[in-house]
Amino acid sequence: MIKKTTFRQLASSRRLAKPGLADEASLTISSPMAFGRSIVRRLASVRPIDCPNRLNKPNLPTAEPWIRSLRDVAERLEADWIAVRRHLHRHPELSGDERATTQYLAAATERLDLPTRVIGEGRGLTVDFVSSAELAEANRIALRGDIDALPIEDHKAVDYRSTCPGVMHACGHDVHATIVLGAIQILTTMHAEDSLPWPIATRAIFQPAEEIAEGAQYMIQHHALRGVGAILALHVDPTRTVGCIGLRAGLLTAACDIFHVEIVGKGGHGARPHQCVDPIDACTSWVQTAYRRVGRVIDPIKTVVMSVGRIEAGHSANVIPDVAHLSGSLRSLDKSSRQTALDTLHSVGRSIADQTGCEVKLRLGMSAPAVNNDGGLIRLLSDSAVQAIGPAAPDPIAHPSMGSEDFSYYLDHVPGAMFRLGVAGPQVGHEPLHTPAFDVDERCLQVGATLLAAAVIKHFAPPPSQRAS
Ligand SMILES: [Zn+2]
Ligand SMILES: [Zn+2]
Repeated sequence: MIKKTTFRQLASSRRLAKPGLADEASLTISSPMAFGRSIVRRLASVRPIDCPNRLNKPNLPTAEPWIRSLRDVAERLEADWIAVRRHLHRHPELSGDERATTQYLAAATERLDLPTRVIGEGRGLTVDFVSSAELAEANRIALRGDIDALPIEDHKAVDYRSTCPGVMHACGHDVHATIVLGAIQILTTMHAEDSLPWPIATRAIFQPAEEIAEGAQYMIQHHALRGVGAILALHVDPTRTVGCIGLRAGLLTAACDIFHVEIVGKGGHGARPHQCVDPIDACTSWVQTAYRRVGRVIDPIKTVVMSVGRIEAGHSANVIPDVAHLSGSLRSLDKSSRQTALDTLHSVGRSIADQTGCEVKLRLGMSAPAVNNDGGLIRLLSDSAVQAIGPAAPDPIAHPSMGSEDFSYYLDHVPGAMFRLGVAGPQVGHEPLHTPAFDVDERCLQVGATLLAAAVIKHFAPPPSQRAS
């Protein structure tokens, strides 16, 4: 069944790949025909994945006509999205440096004849699509896609591997950006074909600098949420098969605080520690004491985890240095536990300073609050997934992740929800996030864009009593 569906999709993709969003270069390097041959080779040895109903077209005899139109448009546009995603994957940019990515996405959305607003000094953009003048002043539902990459060397042996040494889309933000663009393209195409069931108003928010937890605040400061009533986002998930949509109402990710500790002593000869004030002794004591104390002051049924990820001190085996540095992360699920843990780090510093005579300076760096998903929007996503992808698509997430996401900053202003998009296929998409071999099964592009477009439409559904029969 997988094979049959994919061949049909490829056939329609070939017919309708142009004109579209993908740039000439992308299509030259990776034409839909070439992609077709490669996926046929890949599928030759495919074994069935564990949720076939989620990917193959489910029986939708009772589906509303707009759902069938949406799925049809998404199938036609899939080859475009693969080309866009591969272009972004080849040309990753680090957090704070996303100018070419912004220009590429701005050019793609301008080809859709939509008003595009590039943010600040050229990093990030917003794109509005309002299908009817009657919603000109209505609150939009925003779709957020982050666009930055990571300082990781791409080790994949594929023709779309990164062309930038030491920089890679290892967190799937190329996929997020493509899916948000794809959702907008579905909606504009449906509008042009007169198959939108009712008026809609949406905004794509292409956000830089998620990996350093600065981009969401930057976009908000530049009024990306002005006129927005709700916001949706996604993150790729290699632990779920493609076609699965991970959903959780309430807490999805933890709050994260990065801390830096500078310990200043007095260096000297390793043979005469009594003449020194040893910052390495203080540094190791700080780590041991902080790990122990945090575990004793937090309510056991609450979750807090801290990890020191970096220690730097000294240069020689027989010299006690002047200074030691350490840094790490502290993650928590509720505000009071977070504050207790941060207070504990301060008190541990005072205690170590008393014991060792070193000066201990604690500095808090980047932080992101917890993502708390709105229950109503999770229901919207779940209902949309059932209708547009298939009844088996929603996949409940049992526990929040202790990872973090700066999407949380938007949720201080408007209700929102983030879902996890399965990207694992039979042969690709299993490598963890933030690793050099990370990749996705690109069928996830169609799943993600379909779901976001369906959720936007359903968000504006009039009450059943007001719908035309
Ligand atoms: Zn990441
Ligand atoms: Zn990410």
